[in-house]
Amino acid sequence: MSDETPVLEEKAGSEAEAVTTVRSLRELIERVSGKGQWKLTREADSGLAESLPFPFLALVGQTEMKLALLLAVINPAVGGVLLLGPRGTGKTTAIRSLVDLLPETPRSLCFYGCMPEDIEVGGLDAVCPDCARKYGQGEPLAAMDKVRLVELPLNARLEDVVGGLDERAAVQERVRLQRGILALADRNLLHVDEVNLLADEVVDAILDAAAQGTYSVRRGPLTATYRARFGLIGSMNPEEGRLRPQIMDRFGLRVVVRGLSDVNERMEAYRRVQAYLTMPRRVVLAYAPETQLAQAELQVARDMLPQVVIPEEVSRLGLAMVHRLKIDSLRAEITLFEGARAYAALDNRLEVSAEDLRDVAPMALRLRRSTFMEKYFEDQGAEEAEISGIIDQAIKENGK
Ligand SMILES: [Zn+2]
Repeated sequence: MSDETPVLEEKAGSEAEAVTTVRSLRELIERVSGKGQWKLTREADSGLAESLPFPFLALVGQTEMKLALLLAVINPAVGGVLLLGPRGTGKTTAIRSLVDLLPETPRSLCFYGCMPEDIEVGGLDAVCPDCARKYGQGEPLAAMDKVRLVELPLNARLEDVVGGLDERAAVQERVRLQRGILALADRNLLHVDEVNLLADEVVDAILDAAAQGTYSVRRGPLTATYRARFGLIGSMNPEEGRLRPQIMDRFGLRVVVRGLSDVNERMEAYRRVQAYLTMPRRVVLAYAPETQLAQAELQVARDMLPQVVIPEEVSRLGLAMVHRLKIDSLRAEITLFEGARAYAALDNRLEVSAEDLRDVAPMALRLRRSTFMEKYFEDQGAEEAEISGIIDQAIKENGK
């Protein structure tokens, strides 16, 4: 054994050259998801996996989950994404892997969150005196900053989420409100894991803020209104508790995440995860050129979104789909159309096509009727019975 450096090789026969040009993010993902097969030759740089997210482009399969996440990043108006599935299906890994792809957004430089567009809409009184002065002197009120992934702690209380009295300030006999997680999530992505296990009041506050883009806090004589325009990503394991149908309905896109069913895909996913766990830096580096390209494409898609239009006949088709499925919720068509606009932008087009609707419709329209949980538990029951049957059969045949 003379080889001292850790090597991460691609097996012969795979496309070794990096993807450097691509027509759209959609095309890039299709090309990269089939890339290479990792062969692990030596252990290295372990312990870094936590701080270096698994590359989004190294995720095997799970096309719909990946697509839903990208649509939510491109267009927060889809109304958030809910990922439903058992543990170990890669939901959290996929969500965290978005970090390296996130685009930039204008962010206020002021504690109060004043933005130049506030002045355009409401005049100089719409911002704090400091920002009004800055604006007058031609100084910027906002700067471009990367969209961040904010994770809601599992034990979050209502006052953590919406904010409350600043206790440190209270000690000094000043009364001040402290910003909550929702205010920190402004112009970012908010990941709420185990959303089905959160207190109702907390979920309601999050969903209200997500829908309105702002929220108000009142504590004694103090009130404050904060901006909270964030992309919401919820995840849950339906086996651990149900989600009220009204709450389920308030998520725009829903993806039922299952384990990979193809044996080769499973094997490849296993290899990549093992490679990542032992040498995260190498794996991240191996995907770096494509990741950079994908991030640039995502930025382009997000920037072109305002120009993407839905032709009349395509919107009629969308409404007909909703009508035929007998879905009452108005959120269905909002999500369908906003999702389709993001999808067209993802594919570098300014006009939504019927095919875009077809590809987005399952995510936007499924689980709009409240029968899902009953069905889920029925399926689980049926699966248990099937497993027992197959095991018994195998044992019987083995004994012959
Ligand atoms: Zn200000």
